[in-house]
Amino acid sequence: MSEPRIGHRAVTATHVGRVRDVNQDRSLVSDAVVAVADGMGGHAGGEKAAAIAIAELSGARGQLSPERLRALARSANMRVFEASADPALHGMGTTLVAAVVNDVDGQIFIVNVGDSRAYCQRDDRLIQITRDHSLVEDLVRDGRLSAEEALTHPQRNIVTRALGIAEEVEVDGFEAAAEIGDRFILCSDGLFNELDDATIIEILQTIADPREAVAELVGQAVEHGGRDNVTVCLIDIIEPAEVETSQSITERVADRVVDVTGEIEPVRLEGGEAEASGGGVATMVADPQPPPPTVDPVQSLDDRHRTIEQFEKPERGPIGPPKLLLAAAVVLGALIALYGTTSWYASSAWFADEADGAVVILQGRPDGVLWFDPDVVEQTEVTVEELNDASLERLRSRREWGSLSDAQEFVANLERTDDGTAGG
Ligand code: MN
Repeated sequence: MSEPRIGHRAVTATHVGRVRDVNQDRSLVSDAVVAVADGMGGHAGGEKAAAIAIAELSGARGQLSPERLRALARSANMRVFEASADPALHGMGTTLVAAVVNDVDGQIFIVNVGDSRAYCQRDDRLIQITRDHSLVEDLVRDGRLSAEEALTHPQRNIVTRALGIAEEVEVDGFEAAAEIGDRFILCSDGLFNELDDATIIEILQTIADPREAVAELVGQAVEHGGRDNVTVCLIDIIEPAEVETSQSITERVADRVVDVTGEIEPVRLEGGEAEASGGGVATMVADPQPPPPTVDPVQSLDDRHRTIEQFEKPERGPIGPPKLLLAAAVVLGALIALYGTTSWYASSAWFADEADGAVVILQGRPDGVLWFDPDVVEQTEVTVEELNDASLERLRSRREWGSLSDAQEFVANLERTDDGTAGG
């Protein structure tokens, strides 16, 4: 068995913020996986969706492969989707960003759905690893919005992809070669909508203790506005020897109490094994030593850029519904796209049916699609009465055809009983 190239430890902190009544963010720091979920939809739904997704990931044990991490994201999607059958929870969904560190290989794997993010802080750079699945991200990519405009766009909270909206979800995956001294953060949008990159970098560069750093990130986001729930997981990449096997590497930082005047009370710490062993206050984790500057920073930053890339091409998910369901509620453009897609689907089939004793050809889907009912496009001379039983059965199966002429041919080939001798 080969020596691990790196070690890591992770902590998480969350705060409800100054505006919301409920914290719909959930996070996880286990020995297997680190994750943030930002729930949405309804009063109870968002909280529930995030909790279900995190619960699904919390069952994972051991060293997860990228494929296994992605599979977990998919099963979390299915769990949320199944739970949303409850009318009270209908339409709920959640973002998910989750990471697995492989100490032996020195790799970190990250999966992402929605607009929670993963970053890597290295030296004076903050590198965004994930790409948001959001309306403004799409607009920026299409060149219709600048990156600066996106920061203040009124619809920047609209996600175009989330867990729990459909049976299938497209999950983006990334991998990076982690290096000692790297600090990876997973966070909900409540962090980066309040703090700019420079502030995040400064906190990560000046506060070595991971629990203090994560609490400072959350606390400053709340101080700077706190308009949304704020959740951060911090993963420090450390020397393998620094990982103390006798001590849990997982710590949880409770809500940091922030009042509206900006006065901050001392951080209360809890969770992990420390809490289980009594006391309710975690024992301090040794400070990670700042890594010695052994390489030229500029060179290593360039390397970083090359090593952060998708480990697979994003899968082709189902087009349309999952993406549009969320956006359609608020975005006219999405509604138009939905209308266009649906009307195309609804009108791209023809079938024969009976109407007032005659065979007719209709354009559309036999049972209609949303508000698109099929229209009669041809009244044929064929009457139901003259069809034999087999043909009548074929007619009533209402088979769909890809063109009008196919449907016409179908009708022409329906067998009729001989006039006057029927039933003979
Ligand atoms: Mn949020």
